[in-house]
Amino acid sequence: MTLYRTLYAALTCDHCGQARETQIQFRTGRDNLEEYHQGEAIPDDSILNPNMRYSGQADWYCQACTIQRKTAALAAFYEALAGFIQQGRLKVQKGGLFKRAFTPEQMRALGHTRVQQAKATQKAPGPLFTELADFELTWDDNPAFQGGPAYGLFIENVNDQIAASLQAQGWHRPSLLRDDLEVYLDGNSTIQVTQAV
Ligand SMILES: [Zn+2]
Repeated sequence: MTLYRTLYAALTCDHCGQARETQIQFRTGRDNLEEYHQGEAIPDDSILNPNMRYSGQADWYCQACTIQRKTAALAAFYEALAGFIQQGRLKVQKGGLFKRAFTPEQMRALGHTRVQQAKATQKAPGPLFTELADFELTWDDNPAFQGGPAYGLFIENVNDQIAASLQAQGWHRPSLLRDDLEVYLDGNSTIQVTQAV
């Protein structure tokens, strides 16, 4: 079963510090999208075991900060591409008859446009590497097609750069999701959440 249960609880955004109602997903092994609110009394015949702590997953950031972080990652992504082109490790070409490789400046300009678009729509940009779906890539002189070894190395190197850049800009969590939460029943059989130690 891939289903889960949801606990709604007030958690603080890890970036702006604002408390907001957050969905915490957890699993018991027999789940069918049950929903609870923090502090709700849980009947005795529920499958929730008072002696168990269920590990829970939730967003680290509020919606506004999530968009802000994804936009920062998008900018860092293009900066990483431009940097690797400059170092001669990466070649990005548009396929077809007249192949021309991107210069670092062209890649930065494309990144600038994409970041402006993301900001204008106030929506979180999609998965970063799909940005390159239409291009042919070469990494360290090897063709980097999706799923191939050179592509794997390319992704790894770019992701390292993005992580370092986000870290330097004050985004300290490596991922958008936190999995450090525990859902449990307290002595009064009400459902609670705490940070795992
Ligand atoms: Zn926030």
